[in-house]
Amino acid sequence: MKLELNITPLKEWFPHFIKPMLIAGPCSAESEEQMLTTAKQIAAFYPHSIFRAGIWKPRTRPNTFEGIGNIGLKWMQLVKQQTGLLTSTEVATAAHVEECLKHGIDILWIGARTTVNPFSVQEIADALKGVDIPVFVKNPIYPDLQLWAGALERVNNAGITKIVAIHRGFQSYDNGPFRNSPKWELAIDLKTACPALPVICDPSHIAGTPELIPYISQKAMDMDMDGLLIETHCRPAEALSDAKQQVTPLELKQIIDDLQIRSSSTENIELQTKLEELRLIITKLDNELLEILAKRMAVSAQIGEYKKENNITILQVSHWKRLIESGIESGTQIGLPKEFVKGIYQLINDESIRRQTEVMNKTTKK
Ligand code: PEP
Ligand code: MN
Repeated sequence: MKLELNITPLKEWFPHFIKPMLIAGPCSAESEEQMLTTAKQIAAFYPHSIFRAGIWKPRTRPNTFEGIGNIGLKWMQLVKQQTGLLTSTEVATAAHVEECLKHGIDILWIGARTTVNPFSVQEIADALKGVDIPVFVKNPIYPDLQLWAGALERVNNAGITKIVAIHRGFQSYDNGPFRNSPKWELAIDLKTACPALPVICDPSHIAGTPELIPYISQKAMDMDMDGLLIETHCRPAEALSDAKQQVTPLELKQIIDDLQIRSSSTENIELQTKLEELRLIITKLDNELLEILAKRMAVSAQIGEYKKENNITILQVSHWKRLIESGIESGTQIGLPKEFVKGIYQLINDESIRRQTEVMNKTTKK
């Protein structure tokens, strides 16, 4: 994928940048006391972090807490005055942008439910024309890299160059242990398409529960992401939204303190040589895997011919079930995790079905 953005490097506009850039604060602004208590505790540990709080909440169902509205922006101002933290919130409409600018909010972000809608993103981008403010763009709720890239482009085309992408996971058929499946490969593809684009991770919305946050945060650092957005509330159990996933400021400190920040490059020649040797072996093995897959798909196509001649369906569920079960058994016996084997089998099966569909649809000349 091609993605050309005009980016101002993080270090130029966020002078205190050290990894991880940290955004912390409650899912929603609820009261002046909740905001100030949470912000002061965060600022005590991380004076150069960015405070977050949702003012307008996009909720799946009505009659749930849909955000405190404009009064929350006043509390944001108090947070900034009393703690010195930069402030950030989610915008979904031009009116939200206008209110935030009026109240001096430092950073805006576009939420996952808005990124999916080009009309809304364009409306926000238009409202931002001529304004110099950092804008963070969350990935869309479903795994569509083009939509994520498109939202970043719309914001960039409006003249915003202080842009950051936020990886917050994707709603998918099988989320595994997560609230939103991380699908790291999409964040990696985005970063590969535009290496200058800073990418941070939102482990809270991926995890859906505090226990998984340290693991996801560490993984994000090891994927060379620049920062973390972690929902933090002074009393998580009382939170009016996302109560199940928020951590206390003290828990946040523990998570950040425990992180191992590793370097993405090395000057050590001996290590570089060793890495190169091992990478060569991997490239060779990957090529062998591809050759085996190509052979396997040729057999699938051959089976497709038989199915066509005998007028039988491409998928026979009982056969597929046996195949994946035995694959998982063999795989786990040689130390491969069940989910990994399942994922590979699903990919292979999808391609096999695609090939056989091609065979079925081929018109034979009479
Ligand atoms: C949030 O950050 O509270 C939020 C609504 O997140 P998302 O847009 O990732 O669902
Ligand atoms: Mn939330």
